[in-house]
Amino acid sequence: MWRCAGRVPGTDKYGIMRNFLLIILFAVTSQSLTAQNKYGLKATTMEGYQASIKSNPNKELINLEKFIPGIVLDIRYATTNNFTGEKIYNLARAYARKPVAEALRKIQADLKTQGLGIKIFDGYRPYKATVKFYEVYHDTTYVASPYRGSRHNRGCALDLTVINLSTGEELKMPTGYDSFQKAAWPSTPVADPEARKNRALLIKAMEKHGFKVNSSEWWHFDFIGWKNYEVLDIDYEELE
Ligand SMILES: [Zn+2]
Repeated sequence: MWRCAGRVPGTDKYGIMRNFLLIILFAVTSQSLTAQNKYGLKATTMEGYQASIKSNPNKELINLEKFIPGIVLDIRYATTNNFTGEKIYNLARAYARKPVAEALRKIQADLKTQGLGIKIFDGYRPYKATVKFYEVYHDTTYVASPYRGSRHNRGCALDLTVINLSTGEELKMPTGYDSFQKAAWPSTPVADPEARKNRALLIKAMEKHGFKVNSSEWWHFDFIGWKNYEVLDIDYEELE
């Protein structure tokens, strides 16, 4: 109870001060669990994420390089070789929520039987990177809206391609990664039979294990069920 010694709490000088401090404390605590930004989206930060994995272990972000044998990483946003021309991440890492990582492990195993494997361009992406992309390139056909966040921010989207395991070479695809051309749309007809076949092979391999290709990027796949996972704003350094 608030009440003591017959005084109504909050009516004397110290009570008012105490209530004021409690309000400040509450504001600071809720701020550390979700950071609200100028786009009005509350992204979950480390404390909120840790609480979420305690109640639902599927929410854990898994390091794909450690979890999937033979997977290759080419994390473009950890280099200047990306559409922003800037290094966005300090570390080259690929993370995804547990069921996403498990599905991808099955895909890697399926591809291996054909001498093929996965190369990841991007996995879980901290929300602040999505804001940066939007501020560089405003077209939401190709970059996610910061008002809603990206499925990458939920740890439920992957950008990837297929490589030949013996040479390490990427299979020929209709465009390069992060092309803002209509040729990158999975619905665009491809004249080159090899690129057509490879794009179909990738999409089929991913769909078999619960992913759906993005309508304007042949390399981007959303995990079905992504709505059950919050937008996160946690740097890779914090996950190490
Ligand atoms: Zn993507």
